[in-house]
Amino acid sequence: MEEIDGNILVAMSLAKFGIRHMFGVVGIPVTSLANRAVSLGIRFIAFHNEQSAGYAASAYGFLTGSPGVLLTVSGPGCVHGLAGLSNAMANTWPMIMISGSCDQNDVGRGDFQELDQIEAVKPFSKVSLKATHITEIPNCLSKVLNSAASGRPGGCYLDLPSDVLHQRISKEEAETLLQNIQTQNNNPSDSTLPLTTSHEISEAVSLLRHAERPLIVFGKGAAYARAEDTLKKLVESTGIPFLPTPLGKGLLPDTHHLAATAARSLAIGKCDVALVIGARLNWLLHFGESPKWSNDVKFILVDISQEEIQLRKPHLGLVGDAKQIVETLNKEIKDDPFCLGKSHTWVEAISKKVKDNVNKMEAQLVKDVVPFNFLTPMRIIRDAIVALGSPAPIVVSEGANTMDVGRSVLIQTEPRTRLDAGTWGTMGVGLGYCIAAAVASPDRLVVAVEGDSGFGFSAIEVELVPLSYDALTFAQTLVRYQLAVVVIVFNNGGVYGGDRRSPEEIDGPHKDDPAPTSFVPNAGYHALIEAFGGKGYLVGTPEELKNALSEAFSARKPAVINVIIDPYAGAESGRLQHKN
Ligand code: ADP
Repeated sequence: MEEIDGNILVAMSLAKFGIRHMFGVVGIPVTSLANRAVSLGIRFIAFHNEQSAGYAASAYGFLTGSPGVLLTVSGPGCVHGLAGLSNAMANTWPMIMISGSCDQNDVGRGDFQELDQIEAVKPFSKVSLKATHITEIPNCLSKVLNSAASGRPGGCYLDLPSDVLHQRISKEEAETLLQNIQTQNNNPSDSTLPLTTSHEISEAVSLLRHAERPLIVFGKGAAYARAEDTLKKLVESTGIPFLPTPLGKGLLPDTHHLAATAARSLAIGKCDVALVIGARLNWLLHFGESPKWSNDVKFILVDISQEEIQLRKPHLGLVGDAKQIVETLNKEIKDDPFCLGKSHTWVEAISKKVKDNVNKMEAQLVKDVVPFNFLTPMRIIRDAIVALGSPAPIVVSEGANTMDVGRSVLIQTEPRTRLDAGTWGTMGVGLGYCIAAAVASPDRLVVAVEGDSGFGFSAIEVELVPLSYDALTFAQTLVRYQLAVVVIVFNNGGVYGGDRRSPEEIDGPHKDDPAPTSFVPNAGYHALIEAFGGKGYLVGTPEELKNALSEAFSARKPAVINVIIDPYAGAESGRLQHKN
């Protein structure tokens, strides 16, 4: 009778549950698991560091709506992976981390890479399970996958001790185990019925209808729910101005006539009713409090999480899937339609402010400043991205100044085409996100616009982007992974900028060291990708940048464009100076 081991059963289970990609780092005791998964048709994206692989898995969950899967080795591998798992939790994105762990018989004896991994992952996961016997593998895997994607999405963990991976059962028994698993529907919009009552829906519509200055705010929860079409209908049928959060950008185009992004302070400062859909009233939205918001604004919160609504205590809470709730709101409005119209005082005020602010910004942007500030290269990048048309590239952005300036200048026109440091302000996500985006959306170009500091966290992962082993003398050709990713590094020589200390500030026993904020000036980041067979560009003028972008975008080949920025151009802590 044919027998299989735990590694094969994990791979069979992953394939059965529809997993198509895995991110991770192999080693003891999970190498065979990864190989088995590959032989069953799962694409394994092998990273250098579990941290980046974990960031990739978290973003993959957001982009595809199915949990991203991270595979790590035991002990330190699991600890490195916590960066990704916690990032998924903070952003409410579905992912699972699977880690090998030491032999159960050696626990407590100082085994190789021993760690109580279940305890370690607890603060960062919705559910954490250990398969203590091979027969538990399919059920445990099904449970973590389902919990990651159900209700409020998040990270879940599965622990696979090495003895369990080596246990054997008959193939027949394995197949029976798999057949017995009730494969639940992973899609929250199908599995989660709105908990909201029709009375609450009517109340929400009545609040919007009678508001003098209504505003619709939407965030990455609405993006995750694929609510773009229904949101467009809501906005356009009611004529209510809208404001996306950074990762909500693109659900409706930034260029839409009701977009209030360029009039953000006015919109949130003066609105009297705010319908907030799939976005938390956390630091990104100033906790929904004055002075940024008016004291008497009435919030209507739409969120899949009842807990979130209870925490914020809005005027009205609608618990459920964003797409379903907005559809219900649209139906209710259809029976008795209302629309503010272009000449409504509030709509006019927002639209005027948007025009004024856009004009002010454009006046800054048109100037070609050399050595580069942040605005000149950002305008050139914006124009090159706009020229690409549809499908729009996925823009990955991180770094304090680069991300802040990019958020205002770059234009998002399609949903889920922006990834950035997110709820946790996590820096170092860039390369992992790029790789996840390229894998999840192969039809789109991926353009990373990052500061040199953000890039440096995981810069070695550029090796994954271009490498084709074609040129190497392998018995069989492996293609690693040839992703259409162009990374643009805003190189201002450090965190926030280069060494900007005045001579008086430089004293003490370590006075010859560079400032803690500074890196090697004019570092040759473009050479990194060349070391792996990709294309690198070093640019310092508008012409050089335009040429590099044009060549890299049309080639759709991996590239790093190293843009030298004036080391004095960035502000410390970007736009969050009050928190420093
Ligand atoms: P942003 O950073 O864009 O402001 P947040 O991450 O703060 O967004 O908020 C996203 C919210 O969306 C979370 O509170 C999460 O519970 C919620 N959410 C996740 N999925 C859905 C969904 N399908 N429908 C409605 N809300 C959702």
